[in-house]
Amino acid sequence: MTELMPEFEIVRPESVNQAVAALTARPASRFLAGGTDLIVNMRRGLVETDTLVDLTGIPELRYIKTGNTGLSIGAGVTLREVTTNPEIRSRYAAIAEACDTIAGPGHRSAATVGGNLCLDTRCIYYNQSHWWRKSNGFCLKYKGDICHVAPAGNRCRAAFCGDLAPALLVHGAEVELAGPGGSRRMPLADLYLEDGDNHLRLEPGEFVVAVHIESQNIQNSSVSAYAKVRHRGAIDFPLAGVAVACRKTDEGAIEVTAALTGTNSRPFLVEGFAPVTPGSDRAAAFMDLEKLVQKQVSPQRTTSTASHYRRLAVSALARRLATNLAVALDRT
Ligand SMILES: Cc1cc2nc3c(=O)[nH]c(=O)nc-3n(C[C@H](O)[C@H](O)[C@H](O)COP(=O)(O)OP(=O)(O)OC[C@H]3O[C@@H](n4cnc5c(N)ncnc54)[C@H](O)[C@@H]3O)c2cc1C
Ligand code: SF4
Repeated sequence: MTELMPEFEIVRPESVNQAVAALTARPASRFLAGGTDLIVNMRRGLVETDTLVDLTGIPELRYIKTGNTGLSIGAGVTLREVTTNPEIRSRYAAIAEACDTIAGPGHRSAATVGGNLCLDTRCIYYNQSHWWRKSNGFCLKYKGDICHVAPAGNRCRAAFCGDLAPALLVHGAEVELAGPGGSRRMPLADLYLEDGDNHLRLEPGEFVVAVHIESQNIQNSSVSAYAKVRHRGAIDFPLAGVAVACRKTDEGAIEVTAALTGTNSRPFLVEGFAPVTPGSDRAAAFMDLEKLVQKQVSPQRTTSTASHYRRLAVSALARRLATNLAVALDRT
């Protein structure tokens, strides 16, 4: 059955202030970046708006700043620009590797950092055509009154499936926002909520301007990586994804930070993993990390792949990345 694009108007602000004013003037508008997710969702009738505020013509959003003071990436920078930046690839490998795995080369030339961080959550009962969802009686997230994934519950369990967020999380990123109330910064982890129908902690009219990694979060002796499992080896969302960063302390212990995506309605940092002290059994420690991940993830029946597989796969990936990164640290 053919799905026609609805009618809509595009407003093209040239500054952050103009974008805020445009959204304030028409509160039912939606921000448009690369459009690689939003336009698909509009076509499927999942986004209803008559106005898009296009952020791609705003020079303030299109910069990458690297150096000893840290890393800043404007929300309008494309994923291709991130992957081809040599400094990001050498000092923040997880970020470049995560972007490498997002969609296909054509998508990455248009898709942006801001759009990836603010990606809608996904579910096998939601990312379908209008007629498919209608024949299924819709669902809590859109026009329905029941969740097909967890019918006894009263909240949407759709999964956040952006690849970039966990890679930024393990590097301690902050997010810069602009909106009618001015601008503010917060830890990236705080941008997200565990609610598939309302997973972004953004005030009305607020949007992402940039992400920042401060110099104290960059350690010369740190290494990072990203890996995901997906149905196809290319152009596919993560069924589950994990970023890991490892760093050697002055005492020679290995500090491990891991963050996950695809398993919950938000990307999040794994909690409670103690540094691996010199001389201790590393293999046993990383097995503990695997168990911690298994306990903290909460994959639901939001994909055609079993939740248990996603839990086991992502925890095994976390252990594998940590093991390989620790070996890489030994060589530095
Ligand atoms: C075939 C296919 C495969 C894909 N595979 C993957 C994948 O493997 N991994 C993955 O992560 N994604 C994937 N995607 C989704 C999408 O391509 C990417 O997530 C992309 O980074 C989205 O960025 P965008 O700039 O195109 O966002 P848009 O589509 O323009 O916007 C996405 C959402 O973010 C909002 N938004 C955009 N910019 C901002 C901002 N600065 N502040 C606040 N809100 C904003 C929009 O209003 C919209 O709700 C895939 C898409 C397709 C079509
Ligand atoms: S988790 Fe439930 S409410 Fe959310 S999109 Fe899926 S079926 Fe709908």
